[in-house]
Amino acid sequence: MSWEANVRRVVPYTPGEQPGERDVIKLNTNENPYPPPPGVIAAIQSIRAEQYRLYPDPDAGRLRQALADYHGLKKEQVFVGVGSDDVLALAFLTFFNSGRPVLFPDITYSFYDVWANLYGIPFEVRPLRQDLTIDPSAYMGGSGGIIFPNPNAPTGILTEPEDVESIVRANEDVVVIVDEAYIDFSGGNKSVVPLLARYDNLLVVRTFSKSRSLAGLRIGYALGGEKLIGCLQDVKFSFNSYTMNLPSLAAGEASIRDDVYFRKTLEKVIETREWTKQKLAELGFVCTDSQSNFLFVSHKRIPARELFAALKKAGIYVRYFPRPRIDNYLRISIGTQAQMEALTACLQEYLNQY
Ligand code: PMP
Repeated sequence: MSWEANVRRVVPYTPGEQPGERDVIKLNTNENPYPPPPGVIAAIQSIRAEQYRLYPDPDAGRLRQALADYHGLKKEQVFVGVGSDDVLALAFLTFFNSGRPVLFPDITYSFYDVWANLYGIPFEVRPLRQDLTIDPSAYMGGSGGIIFPNPNAPTGILTEPEDVESIVRANEDVVVIVDEAYIDFSGGNKSVVPLLARYDNLLVVRTFSKSRSLAGLRIGYALGGEKLIGCLQDVKFSFNSYTMNLPSLAAGEASIRDDVYFRKTLEKVIETREWTKQKLAELGFVCTDSQSNFLFVSHKRIPARELFAALKKAGIYVRYFPRPRIDNYLRISIGTQAQMEALTACLQEYLNQY
């Protein structure tokens, strides 16, 4: 018999392309178009060669404390990982063990079913409503756990905190994970972090990759009750003690301490998002009401697949998902104002010759 009979077979997640060429306009992976603040770079540069000899703090104590202070929680309520993908993968492994199906939307972050399949966790998808919003009544109990992003990806649509709370309340016997990767772009108080004071089955996951301009350093975190976070810590320490490297720990802490730069960058991205939404509407696109740093758009006449190819040819990379219900949409990350002007000019030119 071949060793191949005993291999764990998986269909991996496909991340957006990272093109080698420099002059591409890259709007395909929801990165931030602005660099991190100078304080973050200074924090990395201040690490002495001598320090690299040693293992980093396995407890990530300083970063966890900085995040706890920022969110008004205790350090024991904060878990950190190598991007939120790492945090989410460990959360699936830790919390979804009932044998009952885990629920998530049919249109959502396409890594969820990959992790479920990797671990052999049964799952069921719940269809979004016709208008692509999440239907809270589809998540009212009897499952092995629930996960969804808020705002959802790739639609960008926000579920109001009251609706999220109704889901958390109806599922106190399982863990509900709210993936807030894009919440900072929803302008203000839409996060469900305040619900942590009332529900011990809620886990909120966040990332430094989008709003904090640090996709390259891989920093993500989860917030929850002490017990929930303790369970995650136990699984992490059964897997790899030193997930967070020295530069990531230092940069993460410096980023959290610089709120002024953070807010300024957020404002710029949100302003450009609204400008782009308006401009695309004028060009005949239908946009969801995205509260994130990307738009999800469909043209009234021209197939998304064709626009995707035309943009790529012009050196503008966006994301296209050839999947049921969304195969006529493009997901476009918000770049700088100049990049979005180049995008809309390119689309305008293409539409003119149609
Ligand atoms: N959740 C959602 C909804 C995302 O879109 C992404 C980005 N691909 C992630 C989590 C993971 O981000 P990261 O691992 O960079 O923190």
